[in-house]
Amino acid sequence: MLRIALLFVLLLVMSTGSASAAFPAGNVVGFGDVWPQTEYLRDPGGSWTLDDARRRGDQFQPASTLAPAGGLGLFDPSTIWFRLTPRAVENEPWYVELSAHVSRADLFYVTPSGQIQHARFEGPLPFAIEPVASSGLVVRLPQGALRGGSIYVRVVTRIDRFGQFAVRPESWVLAYNRPAEIGRLLAFVFTIGIMLALGFLNLILALSVRDRTFAWYAAAMIAFAAYELVVSGAMSRITPIHGLLPYDPLIYLTYLAYLALVVGFSRSLLHLPSADPKLWKLVRVTYAAVVLSATVYVVCPNLLDAVHLLPWLDPIASGAFLVVMLASGVALWRRVGTPLARYYCIAFAGGIVGIVLDTSARNGLIPDSSWATIAAALSAAWEALFLSVALSQHIRGTTIRAEELQGERDELEAVALRDSLSGLWNRRAFEQQLESEWWRAARSHTSLAVVLIDIDRFKAYNDSHGHLLGDEVLARVASAIARVVRRTYDMVARFGGEEFVILLPGCTLADALAVAESARVAVRGEGILHQRSEHRVVTVSVGVAAMIPELGKLPASLVDQADRALYEAKGEGRDRTAVGHATAAT
Ligand code: GH3
Ligand code: MG
Ligand code: MG
Repeated sequence: MLRIALLFVLLLVMSTGSASAAFPAGNVVGFGDVWPQTEYLRDPGGSWTLDDARRRGDQFQPASTLAPAGGLGLFDPSTIWFRLTPRAVENEPWYVELSAHVSRADLFYVTPSGQIQHARFEGPLPFAIEPVASSGLVVRLPQGALRGGSIYVRVVTRIDRFGQFAVRPESWVLAYNRPAEIGRLLAFVFTIGIMLALGFLNLILALSVRDRTFAWYAAAMIAFAAYELVVSGAMSRITPIHGLLPYDPLIYLTYLAYLALVVGFSRSLLHLPSADPKLWKLVRVTYAAVVLSATVYVVCPNLLDAVHLLPWLDPIASGAFLVVMLASGVALWRRVGTPLARYYCIAFAGGIVGIVLDTSARNGLIPDSSWATIAAALSAAWEALFLSVALSQHIRGTTIRAEELQGERDELEAVALRDSLSGLWNRRAFEQQLESEWWRAARSHTSLAVVLIDIDRFKAYNDSHGHLLGDEVLARVASAIARVVRRTYDMVARFGGEEFVILLPGCTLADALAVAESARVAVRGEGILHQRSEHRVVTVSVGVAAMIPELGKLPASLVDQADRALYEAKGEGRDRTAVGHATAAT
């Protein structure tokens, strides 16, 4: 467990480390004073001409305050104008770097001779322009574009995750873009890799242990991996999906599917509906609120933008969802104190940190936002990992429960096979044991013996002393017999009424006879007064039989033989032992 966490932290440090190297915050030696000033302005109808944008020059705002563009692209794409004003211009090409989700960029610039030039970039998303391999859209500004004053870039995006907009000189791009991409890629591959590995591993587990909780988890992980693939733009790179669907609705669908699966998983893992019905209701209400807010986001992003809720609604809803999930874990933790609930809480606490970082980064609250973006991705992996650890506790709980059930079953079985009055095994237990010992003796060709014991004149005892005293005698006779049987694999049982039976595996007739005699003498030695017996004390008659089981014979034949011997003993005057002999009938 600890090792997993350490490995995780190590990888986190590695990937964020390389990312920080890739995105030096603030001034970069040699570039800081030439960075163009970047401002933006939304074009609500998407219909402005360059002149319209220039006329609104005083409304442009610093790009660092850029809120995510509205909508998930089901309706009109958003249009944003950027104005780049160079401070000093290096004599080298410049690049405009845009998010992976930008579908079109129009560049307007004034040439040194005063002419307005227009260039359009669009294509299947995302694409890369050499020499910069990028997950985003990288546009090379035509030579000299920055020399004619401000340039205007009109960007059409269908997505809220606008991500970055940056203008860099070529030397910077070459020096920093590649490590940045590697950092992003590491975090991305790490997160998606963990999600998919855990997803498929638990899918196999779900099928083999037939436990629904694993299936919920596996499905949730695969849905989240799909979500990450879509959001990062990788889905459109590795599948032709961008040609079939704008992938923005896929973000909406995969994210809501992921949350729904997390709800199912938590319900199954924490037994929420029965453990805490109120909390369970809250979970469902919160999920409904997330669906509602995501739908509002899709249907009327401009309305949200008007009330300045656009950048906040999604993180608030998702954050509330995570907080409720965390609360479920905490409630269970406090009530039952299971390690399962603890790991569940750790998982969602990580998820909340991720949301906070991501939201802060997207709203410009954190200066070095690329670090936060990567940490946010890794927090999703954190969440996946610790939920998986909680799941491993779940299977431990299941195993412990199964052991308890087995114990309870063993106890019940023991009760069902015991005689309550004498404390001996009952007839059912005897017959089961006889059956198995019979076949064992048949296989090993060894002798098996049975001793049948019947109390003499017991009806008369009951008649003169009463049934209750009769019961006491039964118990004393039983323990007297049990005391003479010492080997652990011998069995003493109450055969019924006032009859007892001893099963002696591996005993010859002579051995069994000795045991039978000891039992008879022991009972007599108890000296229980019995007025109406010829012997004045309680005695028993005993029948003994032994045989090596043969093909064609059944276990009952051994008992029959002992029973006939017992009958003989009764006939010969009681308080004696008789030996049974095989007859033609058996
Ligand atoms: P015999 O010497 O021929 O065996 O005579 P018996 O009276 O012992 O034989 P019989 O089979 O006629 O009577 C058995 C009696 O055992 C009948 C019944 O009252 C008594 N008995 C059977 N089970 C119990 C029991 O659980 N408690 C008591 N107190 N008596 C029992
Ligand atoms: Mg009897
Ligand atoms: Mg009797």
